[in-house]
Amino acid sequence: MQEKIKHIFFDLDNTLWDTDRNSKLTLRQMYSDTEVERKYRLTFSDFFINYYDRNEKLWALYSQEKITKQDILDQRFKKTFQELGVKDEEIWNYFDEHFLDKVVQNNNLIDNTEETLEYLKTKGYELHVVSNGFIRQTHRKVNDTPIKNYISTITSGEEINKRKPAKEVFELSLKKADASPEESSFVGDDWEADVLGSKRIGMSPVFFNYKKDDKYKQNGVPIIRDLLELKNIF
Ligand SMILES: [Mg+2]
Repeated sequence: MQEKIKHIFFDLDNTLWDTDRNSKLTLRQMYSDTEVERKYRLTFSDFFINYYDRNEKLWALYSQEKITKQDILDQRFKKTFQELGVKDEEIWNYFDEHFLDKVVQNNNLIDNTEETLEYLKTKGYELHVVSNGFIRQTHRKVNDTPIKNYISTITSGEEINKRKPAKEVFELSLKKADASPEESSFVGDDWEADVLGSKRIGMSPVFFNYKKDDKYKQNGVPIIRDLLELKNIF
């Protein structure tokens, strides 16, 4: 990539922090703790497919600023369980109350995160995190993991109640980093929020194709499937 890049901004969920894996591990444990399968004859995989799909849609609506954080929290478990016939408030409440704290105890990172960040930092790039996730979880995901050793600034859209792809989130992160868009690259797994959002304000995006979904492509945007491929770019 261009010589002028000095700052690399990373999305967090499913770019550095393995959100899908950590969520699944956490939910599997909570599922077994509450004995849902035994009580309601509902397998974990049936529950998880329904939950995952709903959660993705809710986060997409949250990104588009069409629903609030509270809507996500109110709906993701309750509606999933209701739809699957688990009309048991105690169980929905248990998931609501404990999921966010439990999920950050499963701190698996995306493959090769540390090696890649180490390489980039050693090459002299200043590294940053920009997330649409909630402030508290975003800080824990960085500070409770080796990511903290490499990152200079953390920005959560929740700080200004905006979400990527909104330009205000990128602008806030650039301000914190004391960086200009022209000297900044953005690496993320969300085509709309990360790639198009950062490109629109003049940053140089890299698409991390976490879900191995080949439908996205645009001239001039490098696509990687493994973080280590950043070594070929920077
Ligand atoms: Mg992401």
